[in-house]
Amino acid sequence: MHFNILTIFPELFPGTLGAGVVGRALNNGIWSYDAINIRDFAINNYGSVDDEQFGGGAGMVMRPDVLGAALDSVKKPGRIIYFSPRGPRLTQHMVREFAADAGAVYTLLCGRYEGIDQRVIEEYDIMELSIGDYILSGGEIAAEVFIDSCVRVMDNVLHGGSDTTANESFEIGGLEWPLYTRPSAWRGRNVPEVLLSGHHGNIERWRKQQSDDITKERRPDLIKEK
Ligand code: SAH
Repeated sequence: MHFNILTIFPELFPGTLGAGVVGRALNNGIWSYDAINIRDFAINNYGSVDDEQFGGGAGMVMRPDVLGAALDSVKKPGRIIYFSPRGPRLTQHMVREFAADAGAVYTLLCGRYEGIDQRVIEEYDIMELSIGDYILSGGEIAAEVFIDSCVRVMDNVLHGGSDTTANESFEIGGLEWPLYTRPSAWRGRNVPEVLLSGHHGNIERWRKQQSDDITKERRPDLIKEK
């Protein structure tokens, strides 16, 4: 999988994506990226990439001529995504779809300021994608969220492979059950007996019940969505 990342802060990559399982996958060639500096396509020697909004109002907008030149420099763009609070919210289901093709190419446009000129979105048939209902100061963290969530469900990335990801919150249609590891007794708190029993049927039932209860209590919307 390859990501072309268009940003005015290319030094932010790989950032957190260089650590842990996703970092190892980067070293192993499971994914790769090019961080393209939008400022290289600035309209002047000051490196300007933004301008005032037509119609007035506070805040600057990224210029379509600059972004167009930056996008045209990408030889193989694949699907172009602009991170924006206006897009549909990224879900684990969508992550699975984005990650299904191990050879996919995505071009990720990281906004800054108030965002980008609408015409760019139309001209390149760009998909908008939000990572949640809050406002970030830039799309770079959203791009990292997108890459991290896609790469970690790809084959040969996690120890334990598809078993590990299949058990997770959202993958099981709800939230994960409580997790425990050694020591079995800690500060007077014991691990639930059933988990030490070795009885797989009972363990599975207990986990399912816990997952259902927690989901019902914390995220009833996930149940309705099913
Ligand atoms: N004026 C915009 C917010 C701009 S925030 C609005 O009201 O919708 C600056 C940039 O951060 C955006 O261009 C976008 O690329 C990124 N960004 C902010 N919040 C985001 C979110 N929830 N999901 C994805 N990207 C986001």
